[in-house]
Order: sequence, then structure tokens, then C-alpha cells
Amino acid sequence: MIRVLTKDTIDKIAAGEVVEKPVNVVKELVDNSLDSGASSISVEIRSGGTSLIRVTDNGSGIAKDDLPRAFIRHATSKIQNADDLSDIRTMGFRGEALSSISAVSRTEVMTKRKDDLFGYRYFSEGGAERGPEEIGIPDGTTMLVRDLFFNIPVRKQFLRSERVETSAIRDMVEKFAIGSPDVSFSLIVDGKQVLHTTGNGKLKDVIYTVYGPEMTKDLVAVDHTEEGMHITGFVSKPNVSRSKREYEVIYVNGRHVSDRNVSEAIETAYEGYLMQHRFPFAVLRIDIDPSRIDVNIHPKKEEIRFSDTEAVSGAVYRAVRGALEGKELIPEVTLSERSPDAEKEKTPLFRAEPFEQRFAEKKRISSYPDRREDKDPIKAFGETEQELVREALSEPEMSKPVQLSFLDTAAKPYYRYLGQFFNTYCLIEYQDHLYMIDQHAAHEKVLYERLSRQIRENMNDHPASQNILPVILSLPKADAEVLSGHMDVFCSIGFEMEEAGDNDFIVRAVPASLPSLSEKDLLMDMLDMLSEDSTLPKAPVLLKNRIASMSCKAAVKAGMRLSDMEIRSLIDELLTLEDPYHCPHGRPVIIRFSRNDIDKMFKRIV
Ligand code: ADP
Ligand code: MG
Repeated sequence: MIRVLTKDTIDKIAAGEVVEKPVNVVKELVDNSLDSGASSISVEIRSGGTSLIRVTDNGSGIAKDDLPRAFIRHATSKIQNADDLSDIRTMGFRGEALSSISAVSRTEVMTKRKDDLFGYRYFSEGGAERGPEEIGIPDGTTMLVRDLFFNIPVRKQFLRSERVETSAIRDMVEKFAIGSPDVSFSLIVDGKQVLHTTGNGKLKDVIYTVYGPEMTKDLVAVDHTEEGMHITGFVSKPNVSRSKREYEVIYVNGRHVSDRNVSEAIETAYEGYLMQHRFPFAVLRIDIDPSRIDVNIHPKKEEIRFSDTEAVSGAVYRAVRGALEGKELIPEVTLSERSPDAEKEKTPLFRAEPFEQRFAEKKRISSYPDRREDKDPIKAFGETEQELVREALSEPEMSKPVQLSFLDTAAKPYYRYLGQFFNTYCLIEYQDHLYMIDQHAAHEKVLYERLSRQIRENMNDHPASQNILPVILSLPKADAEVLSGHMDVFCSIGFEMEEAGDNDFIVRAVPASLPSLSEKDLLMDMLDMLSEDSTLPKAPVLLKNRIASMSCKAAVKAGMRLSDMEIRSLIDELLTLEDPYHCPHGRPVIIRFSRNDIDKMFKRIV
């Protein structure tokens, strides 16, 4: 039954404009359809929603006597008093939508309950009401909203273009569809169906429908329970990333919300997996006891508040991190064609860092002097590579162990190290794949992890240091202040030094893990970093970023010749890491080619 709320309750409701744009109407109507228990919802719009918005559902319907009340401000069947606000299990609860919508449009509702013989039609046009009149219709409710803002010309003027309004509505309906995979959604724009989901309950199917096959094939499932929260959904493998945060789609108890803390928790979980300023694709559903959230903080219900933000962020972080760590994340290089658009959005597989590029440029000229003059395409394929490929392909079947994933330590005896090529990459054959490892990225990652581990474990202990002939550092005042304020951080990674007055410091030892780096460079780097932003809570993050760049400098560069033994020990250590797939900047460390694709390239199979 629909009742008008008491003044006391009304006063507790987050006030604000509910209907400013067509998309707001669509949201409110679909919210109502979901609350009615519908399993199928269809949305139709014309002219960006300004001339018509229709939402049809097969839900509970509205009783004849309730119809006039449904359009009264603050009349709702969903809550009765202010206490109920702390246990909201429905999308709507304020009883404002229909009154707000009908005040600025010509609204018509047709509705039938299952147990009623007839359906009813009711009109509310800018406040003037008519009905209910009997009509024959199927079970459920159809809301028709025509001529939005017909009586508020100013608001109409401020609408954006039809195209923009349409795309906002499409986006909204897509979010609904993803949020309720067990409900079949369709969207019809100017007579043309642009979205249809089956309502089969499979989230991945909806993601496929909305975002397409490219996005869907690189997803990792999330399923994590913690402290009464259940976090499920899908997140992208790190080889797929986005330049915008808008592909982080969050639902709390089925409601699509934006939430900075949750977004940040997701992004933090990708630390070390993604390059800076890249964002993951993620669809996450958080199911939590309604008493632990406040949905009554935003007039359009686009945000909610958690009673324990930290617990939620922590759980989200662990949910996503756990999912990422549990998977074999080596990007596979496939022959399949990609749309140029999808390609653009992807993290390029090969990208040299600036200093590497310079290095590689020089190297190429010196080691392959006659390459460019070579007109014969087969010879141009380079002898070493030819050998390698021939070797990798000529042995038809290596004796296959039980299917172990590449990174399983038990798989190692079955690797065939094929060596190094371009003085930059290592090549390994394992089962049906050829794995390429970027030696620089690998080394960098190994150093990064070593140092991070040292910092984690040895904060107060003695980290591995290497004594040097004492060096006296005379620093500018600002740097000296930073250094003496963060002495503990430096010591924690293996520096040994003391203040010698007047902005001077004596350095006696440097971290053992960074032998190839001049101690002064390293120190100066760290000082720069600390003086950029020395606010302490942020320091660990900054420190990590910096360690990444330090290890990068200390790491072997592309273009350095490595002995077999060096390669093996590098790979051995790499494989012990939790995330061997990405260097600290998020570039891939390992990629692979399937035998199948290689066979196809040689047209051995079609
Ligand atoms: P609220 O959703 O906050 O309750 P609304 O103004 O959106 O307020 O709707 C008022 C009431 O009308 C709802 O409480 C519900 O009882 C009824 N109603 C609206 N739309 C539907 C629908 N599609 N199916 C069934 N009942 C509906
Ligand atoms: Mg509502």
C-alpha cells in the first residue's frame, strides 16, 4: 500500500532536484520497475527522451486505489517511517519520483496486477490528474512520459543535444543491465533496438553484450567474502587497461553507485600491474547488510555512504588483488584481428622507455649494419631468429608432462631455454607455447621486489648493506632537511650514514641490492622524491614508486648481452615472485605465442 510519509520522515530525506534531465527520469522509472520484482524491463525513448520515455515491466503492478496516491509527493509503499531509512532494500524509498516527473511532463501509467481482472490507466499531466480507467493489458506496468519539461521552457533550453542525452540514457540502461543480470533489459532508441540482454543471470554475458568480445575475453572473476561482505564480479587482466576511470563500475546491493574509496581500492590492487594513469576495467558488486550503508545521502541516489569505509576498501582491495594474483596473466599474442578502436585502448605490448629507446637505437645500427640494404625478405628475417624459430618448431612433440602452468615451479624442468635474442629478450619453449621474457623488465622487477621486501621486513632490522669508502655529502639546506627527517627510510633499505653537521652527511654503506648504481645518484634521487612531497602518510607509496624507478636504473638494460647462466638465474628469481608478469611500471615482462598461431603463420595449418 502506498502511504504519504510523515513530516518527520520527510525532513530526514536528502533533498534535491530529482529530475533535471531525461536520464534522471529513466533512472527513476527503471528503479521502480526493479522494485516491482520485474524480470523483464524495456525502455524506449524518442528525441533523446524529450518527446517520449516509455518503461514497461512485468512486475507487481499498482492497485487501482493506489494509483492517485503514487503521484503524491512523498508517497511510497517502500518505507513507513524514519527508522526504515537504515534498512533500505529497494531502489526507491522517498516517494518523490512520480510526483516530480508528472509535475514536468505528460505522464501516463498503465498497470495491472496479476490477481486483478483488469488493468488501469491513469494520467497526470503537469499536476492535472485523470483516471483511473479500465483497460485490457498484460500484467505489469507501463509508464509513458511525454513532452518532458513542456511547462518549464527554461529547463528545456538547457538540455544538451539529443545525441548526448541519448548516450547518457543508453549508458544508464547498460549500468542497470549489468547490475541486474537476472533481469532482461532492452533499450529502443527512436524505433531501433540498441540493447538487449537475456536476463539469464550471467554477469559475464551482460558484460559481453555491453562491452563486446575484446573486453570480455580478458577478464578475471572476483569472488571474495569478508566480514559479512560478498564481493563478486569481473576485473580486467592487466594487459587491458583504460585511460579513464569510468570503466570501474561499482554496485552496492545492486545499486549502481560511484564511490571514490572503492575506486581507489580497485586501483591500488592493480599497483605494479598497470602503468601510471591507466585504469582497469572492473565490474564489482558489493553485497552488504543494508544497515551498514546509508543510501539516503544523495538526491539522485548516485552515491552511498558506508558505515565502515576502511573495511569495505580493504575487502575490495583483497578481492581484486586476490583475483589478479591467482591467475596466469601472461598476455598471449594472437593472430586474431582486432578493431582499430580496441587496439588503441590496449596497452601496447612493446614500448621502450625513453632511455632504452636511445640505447636500442644505437645497438641496432652497430649489430645489424647491413640489415637495411638487404632486399631479400627471407634473409632479412635474420639468421639467429631463423634458427630459433626452426628449433622451436622442428621438434613436433616434446614429451608432455601433466599440464602445469608456465609459472609452476614444477614446470621448470620442462622448459627449454632457447637463449637470448636482440640482446634484449629471452626465449623459452614450454609445452605448446613460446615464451618471451623482456630481460630488462624482468631484472627490474626482481630488483624491485627484493628492495620492497627488504623495506617491509627490515624496517628496524639490518638490511643488506655494502660498505663503501665513506663519502661526504654536502647538500643544499632543503635537501639536508629532508634527509635528516627521513634518515630511517634510508637506513631501512640499507644506507648507513650519519649527520656531520652543517648540511653534511657521511655515507658509509649503500644497499647491497643496488650495486651498479652510484650511491650518490641513488641518494639524490630519493631526496628529490622526498622533497617533492614529504607528507608522511603518503611516503610509503612514494617510496615504492621511487624504488621502482631506482631499480629500473640499476637493472640491466635492453641491449646487454647476458650469459646463459645469468639468464637462467634471472628467470629463476623472477618465477619466485608473486607477480612476475609486470615490471614496476606495469609493462609486461612475459608474453607468449601459441604453437597453433605459429603453425598458422607458416600455413602448416589453416
Ligand atoms: P518510491 O519509488 O520512492 O516509492 P515513486 O514516486 O517512484 O516513489 O513511486 C511511488 C510508488 O508507486 C512506489 O512506492 C510504488 O508503490 C509505486 N510504483 C511506481 N512505479 C511502479 C512500478 N513500475 N510497478 C509497481 N509499482 C510502482
Ligand atoms: Mg521510485
